[in-house]
Amino acid sequence: MKNLTIVDHPLVQHKLTLLRDKTRSTKVFRELFGEIGALLCYEATRDLALEKIEIETPFAKMSSPVLAGKKLVLAPVGRAGTGFLDGVLKLLPSARVAHIGLYRDPRTLVAVEYFFKAPDDMAERNALVLHPMLATGNSAVAAVDRLKESGANTVRIVCVLATAQSVERLHGRHPEVPIFTAAIDEGITESGYILPGLGDVGDRMYGTK
Ligand code: URA
Repeated sequence: MKNLTIVDHPLVQHKLTLLRDKTRSTKVFRELFGEIGALLCYEATRDLALEKIEIETPFAKMSSPVLAGKKLVLAPVGRAGTGFLDGVLKLLPSARVAHIGLYRDPRTLVAVEYFFKAPDDMAERNALVLHPMLATGNSAVAAVDRLKESGANTVRIVCVLATAQSVERLHGRHPEVPIFTAAIDEGITESGYILPGLGDVGDRMYGTK
């Protein structure tokens, strides 16, 4: 499918299985979540532009590549998104962070915004949306709408799990937005959780249930 990358790297698939297992402790779940977030972002940044600069090693002068062009902004969505943040910032320590506070109305599954804060220079930045669980796709659409309104240069989405429904919904509205995910799961429960999924990621990560 266009603009959909399933990251089949063995480390990602191994960590996904560990995350799915309901016996994982809160501490280990949180650690794994940060690690898999970083590995997924590694794939999602594979095509970042490079430029050569002149440097001097202890032995010789040389021309060597560094990141070029537009800067990055990480955009975690809700509680689950913040679970990616520590791990991803280890990989991209200079990235700015735009917070997108969204929760799902449990009755209608519609995304409700309670907070949004992004850097002023969004037109200069490429956004990586950290949205671990794309279930219906409603909150992913709302997050991308918001980042586009704020002027982001480009937007891509990084998630652990998506469903066919959420990919269709997101690409129905934003076809050019690439999605990077570890797997596409079977579907969603009546209450909007991914099946077989990981359960409620916020609760598992922060020990609230
Ligand atoms: N959010 C979660 O935490 N889990 C899901 O399965 C879907 C959304």
